[in-house]
Amino acid sequence: MAGIQVKEIAVIGSGTMGHGIAEVAAMNGFKVHLNDLTLDILQRALNNIRWSLGNLHRKGQLRENPDDVMSRISITTSLEDAVRNADFIIEAAFEDFNVKSSIFKRVSEYAPPHAILASNTSSIPISELASVTNRPDKVIGMHFFNPPVLMKLIEVVRGDKTSDETVNTTIELGRRLGKEPVLVNKDVPGFISNRLFMRLIEAACLMVTGNEATIEAIDSAARFKLGLPMGVFELIDFVGVDVVNSILKAMTNRGFEFSGCRLIDEKVKEGKLGLKAGEGFYKYPEAGKYSRVNVPKEAGEGVNPVRLIALAVNEAAWLIRNKVASAVGVDTVTKLGFGFPRGLLEYADSYGVGSIMVELIKLRGKYSSIEVDPLIMQMVAEGNIGVKAGSGFHEYGGGYETIKLTIEPPIAWITLNRPEKLNAINGKMINELMAIINRLEAEPFDKVKVIVIRGAGKAFSAGADLTMFSEEGPTDAYLTSRMLQELTNKLEALNRPVIAMIHGYALGGGFELALACDLRIASEDAVLGLPEVTLGLIPGSGGAKRLIRLIGLGKAKELILTGARLTAREAEELGIVNRVVPINELENETKAIALKLAEEPPITLMIAKGILNIASEGSMEGTLTAESMGFGLLFSTKDSKEGIKAFLEKRQPKYQGK
Ligand code: NAD
Repeated sequence: MAGIQVKEIAVIGSGTMGHGIAEVAAMNGFKVHLNDLTLDILQRALNNIRWSLGNLHRKGQLRENPDDVMSRISITTSLEDAVRNADFIIEAAFEDFNVKSSIFKRVSEYAPPHAILASNTSSIPISELASVTNRPDKVIGMHFFNPPVLMKLIEVVRGDKTSDETVNTTIELGRRLGKEPVLVNKDVPGFISNRLFMRLIEAACLMVTGNEATIEAIDSAARFKLGLPMGVFELIDFVGVDVVNSILKAMTNRGFEFSGCRLIDEKVKEGKLGLKAGEGFYKYPEAGKYSRVNVPKEAGEGVNPVRLIALAVNEAAWLIRNKVASAVGVDTVTKLGFGFPRGLLEYADSYGVGSIMVELIKLRGKYSSIEVDPLIMQMVAEGNIGVKAGSGFHEYGGGYETIKLTIEPPIAWITLNRPEKLNAINGKMINELMAIINRLEAEPFDKVKVIVIRGAGKAFSAGADLTMFSEEGPTDAYLTSRMLQELTNKLEALNRPVIAMIHGYALGGGFELALACDLRIASEDAVLGLPEVTLGLIPGSGGAKRLIRLIGLGKAKELILTGARLTAREAEELGIVNRVVPINELENETKAIALKLAEEPPITLMIAKGILNIASEGSMEGTLTAESMGFGLLFSTKDSKEGIKAFLEKRQPKYQGK
């Protein structure tokens, strides 16, 4: 649960990152106090923000008038004035410990006691900045990517003393800024992003200096075999060879072990610093102006892409084993931070964790400094080798044909996966859904707290697959209907919350499946209805009863007897869906709601859900008895004791599902 309600944000430093962060904050409705050393610098920052807002407005990407956004930003050269009323402070001044620690010390004196102090630092230890303040529990890293307006990723970095409440508030703020925050649970040099980037560089360098491949061959394999937007050396040129070198130095100074890359050292010595210098690993027609490097596809034919990513996967395993990052976090960073079309660990799972291990062992044989991470060895020993086995870094719901199951603790995502048939429900899908739900019901709460059902492709589900009935007699159709009823009953009574994430069609059996879920979140394009009568049939999966419970008999009759199709907004007005959001926000919004539910004690949710189901059906007396029994039962749980204790002690509760 978030501790404080953030309304006003101070941004310290208005350079490349600071002005962008201020712009993002103002665009999302926050009042922003922007601070820098001189009014000239601040004025330049305002001009940059105005220019960028104008661009967004022209492209239709800004809902408001740029002037309205600008009116929320004030500038000041006084640090004290900037932070006096701020709930959240984001420091983006020079990357220099003395500059930052002096800012943090002063900010902690001037800012309100509840305010959180975040740094956008790329390399300075958060705990050291925290130690100069009067509130180390409220100091955190908030690492934006350049340019903040376009890049969705934020690494949220926990220092030694950062409290859970500070972490939660920062993550929630990141989401309110329209970003995807990824938690870096320990302040390790390079966080997640730069550690993975450096390992990719390390593998590429070793392969070139070990005469296995040319620079061009590596970049060709990266682009054409892995499908990355840029080759590794191309990316170094783009970022700046000197910048990469100094990030690497800052990381190795803090203990990051790296086998060195003489190719980078040489370029730095020669002043060939990449795109900005007109030459780095490649030559550019105009210094500073991006032009795509020509890398032929054939050049990379001899390069094994598994070898190229092996060290990065090894690093990811280290991050996971040391509880710095989750597999999902690693993949989010690689997708949003580097534009990978798939997450690094999705690659690893599809190539096979075994193949990664083989490449690591071979690399170790040739370049002795490499250690295979114990997690990789353990995964291989236990047979968790990726997609083929049904589990690797991620879960793949082993061998299902019509469903995809992905477990990203605490959420299990069930994807109805017959996109070519608009996810029409057939016998196989019913059986597979039943098997998956039975499996998830038995998962420990620390792994799966909330289940989300969604559809692959263009729809949630267009209904039952009518072709399965064509050959069937009345008894078979009866049995199919009973199976679907059993499935929807099971979902409704499941021991943890289930959310239907609806886009496109949710019709007939598909709608009935959604009705059996606890919450329904729909995108603006969703179409919902029970059109069975128009085919000479009736809803057969309990949907009629569930609809009556939601909207009453009169309205339910109207919908079912006319077979009407509702837009998402109409369904929302009737109380059928809980929330309607733009399609591009559907997944994020659903995830945010699921994560919110996951913060609550799971046994309490299970009992509350059961009693609400009884209340919607049963007699008053039956409901009240169940309620009292539930109340009594919950009093005996460790979680309720913790909840009450935490409330009295004014801190965040830590629930264990016990
Ligand atoms: P920058 O040089 O463009 O901007 C820094 C700004 O801070 C300048 O305007 C400077 O006048 C101001 N400043 C310096 N000392 C100050 C003080 N005492 N009080 C108020 N303002 C002060 O640098 P940048 O690229 O925006 O980087 C800022 C921070 O963000 C650094 O910590 C950097 O490591 C981090 N970062 C940068 C990037 C990037 O790609 N540029 C990405 C992620 C994080």
